[in-house]
Amino acid sequence: MFDIQEIRSQFTILNQQVNGKPLVYLDNAATSQKPNSVLEVWNKYYTELNANVHRGIHTLSQLATEEMELSRRKIQKFINAKHDFEVIFTKGTTEGLNLIAYILTQKLKKDDEIIISYLEHHSNIVPWQLLCERTGAKLRVIPIDENGILQLDYLDEYLSEKTKVVSVNQVSNALGIVNPIEEIIAKTRKNSDAYIVIDGAQSAPHFTIDVQKMDCDFFVFSGHKMYAPMGTGILYGKQEILEDLPPFHGGGEMIATCSFDGTTYAGLPFKYEAGTPNVGGNIALGAAIDFIEKVGQSNIQNHENALLEYAQRQLLEIENLKVYGEKANRTGVVSFNLEGTGISSDVGMILDKMGIAVRTGHHCTQPIMDFFNIAGTVRASFAIYNTFQEIDSLVEGVKKAQRMLS
Ligand SMILES: *Cc1c(COP(=O)(O)O)cnc(C)c1O
Repeated sequence: MFDIQEIRSQFTILNQQVNGKPLVYLDNAATSQKPNSVLEVWNKYYTELNANVHRGIHTLSQLATEEMELSRRKIQKFINAKHDFEVIFTKGTTEGLNLIAYILTQKLKKDDEIIISYLEHHSNIVPWQLLCERTGAKLRVIPIDENGILQLDYLDEYLSEKTKVVSVNQVSNALGIVNPIEEIIAKTRKNSDAYIVIDGAQSAPHFTIDVQKMDCDFFVFSGHKMYAPMGTGILYGKQEILEDLPPFHGGGEMIATCSFDGTTYAGLPFKYEAGTPNVGGNIALGAAIDFIEKVGQSNIQNHENALLEYAQRQLLEIENLKVYGEKANRTGVVSFNLEGTGISSDVGMILDKMGIAVRTGHHCTQPIMDFFNIAGTVRASFAIYNTFQEIDSLVEGVKKAQRMLS
């Protein structure tokens, strides 16, 4: 087991007052806080090691390169990729998804199909719409039921030889719903030759990831939602697929030879890492993985699930409070509204006055809000450092908001 106070002591930022009240940080699905060990690694990079990577013959450049490559191997192990060169550093999930949609352009033609779901973040919708505009392909969307659960009968119906991409998230950021990606991947493999893309932005912080067992072609996530600095992220792609597809950005680092007669590309992973990377951030992402492994992934999952269950049980006791996805399998997120008391941002503002940070609005998932016919929800999302007392504060705050708004 783990000592929650010891964990909290590693997050200096949590130890402060906001609006005269102790900070209760429940906006972890937007970004998590960073432990001191990660900040120290980041700081050490800039105070002792800063140099450009893969270029210099000099000592600092070599040390910086070694540290970043060590981090790449930690990430390889973290997601169980077969090779370290299948791990590409990006600046986040959004960049990863746009990269994939861009490099697949030549593989799609008019009337081909791309399947996504109703539960996607805008960054797993818009890049595919742009790809459709470039190629004439069509987007098909797996619908949800009133609990937010994906209706996989539709996937069966949609899958065909026209399907070229299936891209879904493993966990929904707006509702916290855990999607049956094993089943989605199995159905897709059986009934099409589509590329399978998994948006792991909300699963990598909470679950053990095994991309080989999962058998996806691409898996993307962001560092900043899993205790690492902003501006870091990972794109995993299978070797034979990344070798077959064209580069994304052109520039330094990604060439083997460059002349005005033509350019040849570097091997993986550098083919997809043009320009100077976020070296300090990428090294700190390795430190965030060390933090997660030290706490223990099963401890993280069990604690966050206990918080979710505790929060949902108490919130549902409040009259006229609706939890979205109430009966679905969820992790890390409870998304709700007080019915009859106006908009979610009013609740968020009252909670903020009590030092409680939650997210309100559409959470970059407008189609889900349209489905439930609402403008937004109040979303509380959990991390390893949250406590049951903080949930009590949230529940008390929501009750207060209800009194003030009704
Ligand atoms: C946050 C999030 C994204 C976008 O991640 P960025 O870090 O903003 O690039 C995409 N999908 C899901 C499910 C997310 O939660």
